[in-house]
Amino acid sequence: IAAAVSRIVALSKRDMVTLSLSRVMVVNSLHWFRKGLRLHDNPALQEALNGADTVRCVYVLDPWFAGAANVGINRWRFLLEPTDVLPRLFKEWKVSRLTFEHDPEPYGKERDGAIIKMAQEFGVETVVKNSHTLYNLDRVIEMNNNNPPLTFKRFQTIVSRLELPRKPLPSITQQQMDKCHTKISDNHDQLYNIPSLEELGFRTEGLPTAVWRGGESEALERLNKHLDKKVWVASIEHPRVSTCSLYASPTGLSPYLRFGCLSCRVLYYNLRELYMKLRKRCSPPLSLFGQLLWREFFYTAATNNPNFDRMEGNPICVQIPWDQNPEALAKWAEGRTGFPWIDAIMTQLRQEGWIHHLARHAVACFLTRGDLWISWESGMKVFEELLLDADWSVNAGSWMWLSCSAFFQQFFHCYCPVGFGRRTDPTGDYIRRYIPVLKDYPNRYIYEPWNAPESVQKAANCVVGVHYPKPMINHAEGSRLNIERMKQVYQQLSHYRGLSNLANTRLLCALESFRTSQQPGDHGRHFSMDLGTNHRTRRDSKTMTCYLTYRSL
Ligand SMILES: Cc1cc2nc3c(=O)[nH]c(=O)nc-3n(C[C@H](O)[C@H](O)[C@H](O)COP(=O)(O)OP(=O)(O)OC[C@H]3O[C@@H](n4cnc5c(N)ncnc54)[C@H](O)[C@@H]3O)c2cc1C
Repeated sequence: IAAAVSRIVALSKRDMVTLSLSRVMVVNSLHWFRKGLRLHDNPALQEALNGADTVRCVYVLDPWFAGAANVGINRWRFLLEPTDVLPRLFKEWKVSRLTFEHDPEPYGKERDGAIIKMAQEFGVETVVKNSHTLYNLDRVIEMNNNNPPLTFKRFQTIVSRLELPRKPLPSITQQQMDKCHTKISDNHDQLYNIPSLEELGFRTEGLPTAVWRGGESEALERLNKHLDKKVWVASIEHPRVSTCSLYASPTGLSPYLRFGCLSCRVLYYNLRELYMKLRKRCSPPLSLFGQLLWREFFYTAATNNPNFDRMEGNPICVQIPWDQNPEALAKWAEGRTGFPWIDAIMTQLRQEGWIHHLARHAVACFLTRGDLWISWESGMKVFEELLLDADWSVNAGSWMWLSCSAFFQQFFHCYCPVGFGRRTDPTGDYIRRYIPVLKDYPNRYIYEPWNAPESVQKAANCVVGVHYPKPMINHAEGSRLNIERMKQVYQQLSHYRGLSNLANTRLLCALESFRTSQQPGDHGRHFSMDLGTNHRTRRDSKTMTCYLTYRSL
């Protein structure tokens, strides 16, 4: 006893505090899953486990997400706001450490700021780790004079100067989990079980089997198949579309990257290693990661712009006087435009939750600058509801791109809703699959059934205007007019840009007044029938895309 006492006396006050704390201080971690739904390469979850006595993982159903269901948004907000749920759990589980993955979206950053502040008030340490993107987006912005790069080329230049993305971390192991085994209460499932679709307010009777299965195991299986397709690696620079790639593919990754069931860094390093193996240890060019870099590009452009998903108040978005036309919007969204190529794509999207990149191009162009002259915001919202991979930054960025509202200005190129489809799938099998009413049409007319003679329509048991809608617009006329309108917008814009000393807000105000000086729908662009063939098509060797080109431009 005397020896022990003398040893304790010899310890400094600080040592004693440490000693006693290490005996009594228990680390109770709470890992908050949002995206990053995986065990592999999950640095925040690793931090939760690091030296912890107990670890609990929660997923709070976000009111934004749940808003899509029939349950009222306000009820969800009341019940499930993270700022409401987390303090309750802090107390109940005596949480001392909160971990989560950094969310680069403005809404997420604001929410997380509030959570971190609140955790501090509860004496809870917060650990946030970046693993949803390859690069630290703030660093990219900093290297571009504190502005997000607004061209992909500039973005690539900046990224090429950065060190390689951090290597992915190994998966969480059973041994790690065993060290912080947590007893759960008897009524745990009752309190915290995953709600069923019915409980979330969805009607599920007659629901077909899901084409895309969620989860990390599925994501990793897909990654392997994805890498097995060495041909894919060879053709990664330019997405090529064939009939086959229009269908849901077992190698598709976007929903898994969106929810973080697959780490983008794992995909990056697997691609890199595969390339180096194939090309005798040669370092891969940046273009190998093209698709992944597009994702980063849109994240970087959006991260400090809370208005990235709208036209008004969005400093990078050209203010375009779009029409208000709810009826036309509904026809597009429900696949009733009368253009089989557009309708098949929208049907596939509604039924399965995924469509090919160039199919997205086709329907986005049709809705906006190509044919209907409806705002990209409306299209983006429909995608947000229906796409499995709907991602705030990528979706809004792509819609701005396609509608020539930001990033891309070649408004004189326009996808033809007949020729593009025909070129992609000459046999029309894709159309027959998603619009069975057209299944007996001969290949020649399947993309333009309104041009089939009456006898052909009758023989196919599908008379246009009776069993399948007439085309809602004369594409040749409509797109010509829209190109003219876009030309005017850009002329105005270049005029104001020329006066470079004008403040950005003044530019936006000027364009806004141009916008409001036009009456919605005063352009007489909606025709009932007869798609003329007075356009010529050109084959783009890279994307095999059919464009409308006009001699006048
Ligand atoms: C109008 C429009 C809206 C879009 N909305 C979304 C969206 O909400 N979420 C989304 O993930 N993608 C979106 N995209 C981009 C692209 O169409 C999809 O990422 C791609 O089709 C996914 O298929 P994949 O997994 O086979 O991609 P792959 O070609 O195999 O590419 C691998 C990954 O890279 C990323 N990626 C590929 N292409 C792009 C691109 N052009 N821009 C950004 N990231 C890309 C995706 O995460 C994808 O899974 C949109 C494109 C358009 C034209």
